[in-house]
Amino acid sequence: MRSNQEKLQVYFELTKQNFFDSSSLTKMSERIHAPAKKRAVYPGSFDPITSGHVDIIQRGLKIFDEILVAVVENPKKKSLFTTKERMNMIQDFFVDHKDIEVKAFDGLLVEFAKNNNANIVIRGLRAISDFEYEFQMALMNRKLDPEIETLFMMPNLSYSFLSSKLVKEIFMLGGGLTDLVPGQVEKKLREKFRKSTQA
Ligand code: ADP
Repeated sequence: MRSNQEKLQVYFELTKQNFFDSSSLTKMSERIHAPAKKRAVYPGSFDPITSGHVDIIQRGLKIFDEILVAVVENPKKKSLFTTKERMNMIQDFFVDHKDIEVKAFDGLLVEFAKNNNANIVIRGLRAISDFEYEFQMALMNRKLDPEIETLFMMPNLSYSFLSSKLVKEIFMLGGGLTDLVPGQVEKKLREKFRKSTQA
C-alpha cells in the first residue's frame, strides 16, 4: 500500500513524463530562477545621435542588462531628422547589440518608463549648463512617480562639449565631424543637406 506522499510523487513523475520533455522543464526552471533583467530608459531627441550619446549608452551597459533608447517625438519641436530617421541611425549603430532597444515616445517619460518595465532613467551630464534643466526634470519626474529614479552619467571629457545642435552647425559651416558622430550619421547629414539645397 503506497502512502499519500508516494502517490503524489508517482503522479508528479507521470505528469512530468506526459506533458514535458526534460528540456522544456529545464527552460521553465531557468525562467523561474533567472534574475530579472536590469533595464533603463535613455530618453532624448537624438537629432542626430552623437558620439556623446554613444558614450553614455556604452557606460550605461556596464550597469544595466538592457537600455531602451527613447526617441522623443515632439511635433512642436522642430527637428532636422524625422523620428524614424533618428531611430534608424541609432539602430544602425547598435545593430549587433541585443541589449539595446529603440522606441519612439511622446507624453510623460515616467509613464513610458513604467509601461516598458524600467524604473531608471539615464541622463547625460555635460558641462554645468546641463545641470539646472536636468535637476528640474529629475525632481519633477520624481514628483510624478517616486518609483522612477534618474541616474546621471558623465561622458568622456572629449565629448563634454558636444551636442546635436553643435554638430549640425559645424556640418553646415563645412567642418569635419570625424569622431563626433558615428560615420553613418555624417552620411545622413550629407544626404539631408543635399536634399534640402535641391528642394
Ligand atoms: P542634445 O541636448 O544634444 O540635443 P538630447 O536631447 O538628445 O541631446 O539629449 C539626450 C540626453 O543625452 C540628455 O541627458 C543630454 O544631456 C545627454 N547628452 C547629449 N549630448 C551629450 C554628450 N555629448 N555627452 C553626454 N551626454 C549628452
